[in-house]
Amino acid sequence: MDYEPVIGLEVHVQLATKTKLFCGCRTTFGAPPNSQTCPVCLGFPGVLPVLNKEVVELAILSAIALNCTINPYSRFSRKNYFYPDLPKAYQISQYDLPLAKDGWVEISSGGKIRKIGIIRVHLEEDAGKLIHEDSGSLVDYNRCGIPLIEIVSSPMLRSSQEAYEYLNALKDILRYLRVSDCNMEEGSLRCDANVSVREKDAEGFGTKTEVKNMNSFKAVKQALDYEISRQIDLLEKGRRVLQETRLWDERESRTHGMRTKEEAHDYRYFPEPDLVPLSINPEWVNKISKRLPELPKDRMNRFLKEYGLPEYDALVLTSSRDLADYYEECVRLYNQPKVISNWIMTELLALLKEDGIEITQVKIKPEHLISMLGLIDKGVISGKIAKDIIVHMFRTGKDPSLIVEEKGLVQITDEDEVSKVIDEVILENKKAVLEYKSGKTKVMGFLVGQVMKKTEGKANPQIVNKLLREKI
Ligand code: ADP
Ligand code: MG
Ligand code: ZN
Repeated sequence: MDYEPVIGLEVHVQLATKTKLFCGCRTTFGAPPNSQTCPVCLGFPGVLPVLNKEVVELAILSAIALNCTINPYSRFSRKNYFYPDLPKAYQISQYDLPLAKDGWVEISSGGKIRKIGIIRVHLEEDAGKLIHEDSGSLVDYNRCGIPLIEIVSSPMLRSSQEAYEYLNALKDILRYLRVSDCNMEEGSLRCDANVSVREKDAEGFGTKTEVKNMNSFKAVKQALDYEISRQIDLLEKGRRVLQETRLWDERESRTHGMRTKEEAHDYRYFPEPDLVPLSINPEWVNKISKRLPELPKDRMNRFLKEYGLPEYDALVLTSSRDLADYYEECVRLYNQPKVISNWIMTELLALLKEDGIEITQVKIKPEHLISMLGLIDKGVISGKIAKDIIVHMFRTGKDPSLIVEEKGLVQITDEDEVSKVIDEVILENKKAVLEYKSGKTKVMGFLVGQVMKKTEGKANPQIVNKLLREKI
């Protein structure tokens, strides 16, 4: 039998506000345990939540970018359950009237573009964090009340690869919006993966399981692959898939059953009595939509058209908004899009990777990169020397002209000076010279290389070539 997976993802994204959803506590990552708490987020009796307006605006901005309809009227609901990381014993979330609904995200799948539906986007608060040690369990409430949006996809994804593409597309968009850093290791993006299998082209869906506890996109993909083959295996043996929540075990590369699926009624949802409903008028939505930047896919297409870049360059350069901004600032100063792309894609990105830093932290200013290219154009330095200079620029942030001066890296264009070195090289490499004369023109490269070596790469290659030929 031929089976087909059906996948829907529930993605929780932490919104990058300075303070929490319902209190003024900070949201700084990595602060000492319980240092960012107050009576509100610790759920003391009698406290009242106050909604953070910036959270609502970032959530609306996200929903707009995900092509959702913003509900003019939404409200918060209490989701009741007891767990030590939830001091109030309920989570303030949204249930029957979420902030936004009916959106989509584009992914590319097997060379084709697919629109993956988004059922809803809603706001909710995060819970605390339990730390289990041999001596017992500890709880850190810093994360309690951190603002999240939950983005629920429709069950439209048909392979683990599509799920992976979807997560990346989502991350790219949200990072462009600067609503979240979407860092999975720090928990600012979490994904629960719902998956079922069915006979290919069947009408209905099979029973799904929900897999949690993956800490990278790659792990989501692996967990889905594992779960898909586990379910197919069950069906092949004539057994049933149990509807349950399962945990991904990174070490063992498998999922384990955790609990049978909880239903909405288990949570006794009811409208949050301490908060007024959210009424969002079109003017407000309109105003927020003005904050919408050009999104990754649009920007990439523009890079292709406007700068005539190859698709790979455009993809890499628009992979982050800051990198794309950096690139465009360079192009604005020096209208050689492909030359700039080459320097950024090879030299600069390699240096960033080596140091593990982001483009925003780079010391090389666009104007300095451009003046380095100007030095090459004017023949002051060779392209080869420039590759050393860019490393110095990266380390020091200095103006390239200054580096050239300090290190005496000016290109040698004086023919007499080059001529002297060539004479030496000819004397020292008689054999190669003879070979050249007997028709082995390939050795020219070797001889040029010797001259460059003696001049520490500073001789102008055109002059070296010309004089060598003349002299031999
Ligand atoms: P639940 O009530 O179990 O939370 P929802 O209807 O809220 O289920 O959907 C949760 C997620 O599960 C959504 O992303 C949805 O696309 C996905 N989903 C729903 N049914 C299936 C199914 N049969 N197979 C795979 N995914 C599914
Ligand atoms: Mg659900
Ligand atoms: Zn607080």
